Amino acid sequence: MTTFAELTTIGVGGNIDHFMEPTTRASIIEEIEHADAHGIPVCVIGGGSNLLAADGDFHGIVVRDARRLITVPDEADPVEDGDNTVHVTAEAGCNWDDLVAFCVERGLEGIEGLSGIPGNVGASVVQNIGAYGQEVATSVESVEVWDREDRRTKTLSNVEMQFGYRSSLLKTSMYKAPGVPNEEYYPSPRYIVLSVTFALTHTKTGTVNYPQLAAALHANLRDRIPIGRLRDAVLDVRASKAMLEDATRYRLPVMADEKRPEQVERAIRAQQRFVTHHDAPADVVNEHMEATVGENEDYDRHSCGSFFMNPIVSEQIANTLPDDSPKYPATLPDGSTGVKLSAAWLIDHAGFHKGYRVREDAPAALSSRHTLALTNRGGATCADILELASAIRDGVRRQFNVTLVPEPVIINAQLS
Ligand SMILES: Cc1cc2nc3c(=O)[nH]c(=O)nc-3n(C[C@H](O)[C@H](O)[C@H](O)COP(=O)(O)OP(=O)(O)OC[C@H]3O[C@@H](n4cnc5c(N)ncnc54)[C@H](O)[C@@H]3O)c2cc1C
Repeated sequence: MTTFAELTTIGVGGNIDHFMEPTTRASIIEEIEHADAHGIPVCVIGGGSNLLAADGDFHGIVVRDARRLITVPDEADPVEDGDNTVHVTAEAGCNWDDLVAFCVERGLEGIEGLSGIPGNVGASVVQNIGAYGQEVATSVESVEVWDREDRRTKTLSNVEMQFGYRSSLLKTSMYKAPGVPNEEYYPSPRYIVLSVTFALTHTKTGTVNYPQLAAALHANLRDRIPIGRLRDAVLDVRASKAMLEDATRYRLPVMADEKRPEQVERAIRAQQRFVTHHDAPADVVNEHMEATVGENEDYDRHSCGSFFMNPIVSEQIANTLPDDSPKYPATLPDGSTGVKLSAAWLIDHAGFHKGYRVREDAPAALSSRHTLALTNRGGATCADILELASAIRDGVRRQFNVTLVPEPVIINAQLS
């Protein structure tokens, strides 16, 4: 039986009643239609890199789109009037970083800063992935979806997607309020992504948009440099912080073919340079991890990425925080002016430093290389991860009167 532990980067979660991998557009829609018509819980999963599932059984259907085609509809067209826009369409099941590599190899600018983000194309637009000065929203032309309510396919434009910080129409359809699931669709959106069309620019170069990247590249902010160098720098900076997935997971039978083999080998080779020794006692290593534990294993990578979102608060609350806490202009959900805070700063300054555990022998810990990543050090359960998350949320609330909201989709469980 397939488990969420096998399908997710954090490696926790129980058995799944039915795991389906449809290979056609029609069969994906059929699976979702069937589940919705019979009131069966349905979870559409991609790379499982933003999911935390409960330890108990999932009595429903988990659907993973097995279509991974990338097409360049206007590749054969001549570049006219100096317009160097190139459209690229990727099916939802395509691995996100495979798509980035494909575009960078062709000199297409727009998503290179998002190199190394785990997961698939479908989910990339759900939470509007972002990193190193880029967000996917700026390159999305349109998104083809299955609308579970109207029971028909639709093509949503960039504007209709209502992209925001780690948000979109799709993400908001899953919640009644921040952190409060809309049971009608949760843990997946009302709109299931079938494919995404990107509008990229054929420039062969990219802009250095982020101070850490500039430092790694010995370049200045706003410098234009070859796009391949930019991608390599992003991957290196991510690796140094363990903000890449553990690529050895693609050796699990259930993950085979999920990512292009040459990209898996490249990622595993690169991982060797940054690996740390895992610190789990041998007898509590997860069964599925035993199959993959090897010289490349890196438990700092067994996470959902950033566990908490950067909170956006009113100016009034922001003014109560110390002067040296990072604050950025932002917009509150109701459209009024707000302030974006750094979740990492709040966590660290509330006393939760890298490597923090609730108990010395707890199998869940903050990453030793990134304050925002809650990691499974081997054998952690969903309950262990949530215990750590709750301790951090409560500590930050006590210290700063700000409530952190989890970024991952939490299935059949919640923070206490
Ligand atoms: C090490 C690490 C680093 C990370 N770094 C970043 C980062 O820098 N920036 C960032 O933004 N995120 C980051 N993330 C989070 C994560 O990679 C992204 O959110 C990613 O887009 C999730 O993709 P996925 O395919 O794994 O989604 P999953 O975890 O499989 O699913 C997440 C949600 O999307 C829904 N979903 C999946 N596929 C579809 C579909 N086809 N249609 C509709 N809904 C769908 C699921 O139902 C679920 O609700 C990181 C995660 C890890 C583990």
